[in-house]
Amino acid sequence: MTKRKFEILILVLLTMALLGCDSKKSNSGTAETSSTQANQLSQNAQAANVEPQGPAMHVDPNRAMQYVKEIVAFGPRWPGSKGQEKVAAYLRGKLKADHPEEDAFVADTPAGKLPMRNFIAKFQGTKDGIIVLGTHIDTLYPPQGNNFVGANDGGSSTGLLLAIADELRGKKLEGYSIWLAFLDGEEAIQQWSDTDSVYGSRHLAAKWQQDGTIGKIKAFLLADMIGDADLDIVRDLNSTPWLEDLVLEAAKRLGYQSHFFATQGPIGDDHQPFAKLGVPVADLIDFNYGYNNSYWHTPEDTIDKLSPRSLQIAGDVMVETIRLVNGRKQ
Ligand SMILES: [Zn+2]
Repeated sequence: MTKRKFEILILVLLTMALLGCDSKKSNSGTAETSSTQANQLSQNAQAANVEPQGPAMHVDPNRAMQYVKEIVAFGPRWPGSKGQEKVAAYLRGKLKADHPEEDAFVADTPAGKLPMRNFIAKFQGTKDGIIVLGTHIDTLYPPQGNNFVGANDGGSSTGLLLAIADELRGKKLEGYSIWLAFLDGEEAIQQWSDTDSVYGSRHLAAKWQQDGTIGKIKAFLLADMIGDADLDIVRDLNSTPWLEDLVLEAAKRLGYQSHFFATQGPIGDDHQPFAKLGVPVADLIDFNYGYNNSYWHTPEDTIDKLSPRSLQIAGDVMVETIRLVNGRKQ
C-alpha cells in the first residue's frame, strides 16, 4: 500500500465522518438516507440468515505468534534478498506435509528483473469449489526496506495462515476445499502503481485464469496487517459487499464486532487482481497502525506492537467466514 492510498483513505474517512454527522442531524432522513439504511439492513439481514456449515475451528494464538516471531527473525524479506530465501525454506518446512505448490517467476520491476515465488497449500474439501486465504510474504524493497522487518506488514498474516494450516491439516473438511496462498512481491519496488505492486497475486491470478481455477473460487479472503495489538479492521470499499457482510456477521457471532468496520475506505492490496477476474474478495486489513498509522512502512513495525489476541480474532473470524460461505445459498 502507498502513502497516496493512505491519504485517500483518510480523505474518505473524513468524508464518512462528515456524512455520518449529517445523517445523524437529519434523523427523520431524506429519501436517499432511508433507502441507503434500508439497503444496509436488508444486506445485514441476508448475512444474518446464513447458517454456518461445518465444524467450528479456532486458531492457536500463541502458535501463530511464535510463527510471526520466527519469520521476523529472518530480517528483511524483499524479492532477491537472503531473507526471501530463508522464508521460502521456512514455508517448505512448515508446509511439507501439505505438498505446497511453488509458483516461481521472474518479475519485471523498476529495479530490473527480480525472482519471486508464491506458495500454495491445498486442503481438499467435500464440495466442488475453493475458498482461498491469502497473505503476502515479502517486505519493502531497499532503500526503505533496509531497516524494515515487517512484523505486522507481511509477518503477522503469514504466521496466521501457518497456524490456520495447522488447524486444517489431517481433518476431513466438510465444505469447499481451502487453499492457502502465500504471495510474494506485494510491496511496490519503487512507487505503488498498477504495474509496480502485487506482483505475486497478479501472476497467480493470471495463471489461475488460464488453467480454469478462477471460476471455481467461491471467495478470496486476504489478511494483511492483522497483528496490531490495537486491532481495528477497516471495511474495504474495493472488496465484495456481500462477502464483507459475511465477515462482519462472522465477527458478530464470535463477539468480535468491535474490532471490525468502524471505518471504511478503498484499499489497494493483493485481492484486486482476483476481484478484476470476478472472484468475490474481502481484504481483512487494519490500516491504522500506531497513532495516525505512524508505524506503517517504518522500522517501528516490530514484534512488540503485535498481540496474539489480534491474531486470534482475525484468524477465528476468517475460519468462521469460511463456514458462512459454505452455508450460503448459491
Ligand atoms: Zn506494506
